[in-house]
Amino acid sequence: MKLIILGKPSSGKGTQAKLLAEKLNLKHISTGDLLREELKLKTPLAKKVESYMKAGSLVPDSWILELIKNNLPEDNYILDGFPRSLSQAESLAKITKINLVLDLFCEDDLIIKRTIRRRICPNCGAIYGSTLIPKVKDICDKCGSGLYQRPDDNEKTIKNRLQVYNNDTSPLIDYYKKRNIYSKVDGSLSIKEVQSLALKKITTIK
Ligand SMILES: [Zn+2]
Repeated sequence: MKLIILGKPSSGKGTQAKLLAEKLNLKHISTGDLLREELKLKTPLAKKVESYMKAGSLVPDSWILELIKNNLPEDNYILDGFPRSLSQAESLAKITKINLVLDLFCEDDLIIKRTIRRRICPNCGAIYGSTLIPKVKDICDKCGSGLYQRPDDNEKTIKNRLQVYNNDTSPLIDYYKKRNIYSKVDGSLSIKEVQSLALKKITTIK
């Protein structure tokens, strides 16, 4: 089974991808994680990519594709964070055949609200937000540390990221609809509800 998970920033796609990977025994391939691993290993590709990211430029498709190719198993995976554009989707179609694209759809307003509310525990990494609210304000339920807000989690930055998503990634919806592998899931629901809806969609392809 070869899946893609699509979703705006803060749509919960990383969380869902991880849960689905565990449940269905798939490899979770996140471009963010791959890049971090490459950086640790200091590969030549990682160094090239890092220099682009530092300069704030968009990393060329060919390099991201190389990263994906190097890490893509024959089967049984869920892609998270790739493809992000039509040209990436077309490149991917040349090397593999995806079975299903799950789109965790959320309206922009909800994404903005979620992002602004997000608080993170610096000690254990727990993430709080609209669905998970700490029992004591700004204190981690799990370890009692003070929670913080990531500097990027502000309205201006999230609006910019949404604009990029809506311009570059949203065209993938039509692209995959035409190929009859697109499936929309209501991403505004709780983590559990989204997961059970996603699992139902996946069983239809088996
Ligand atoms: Zn904590």
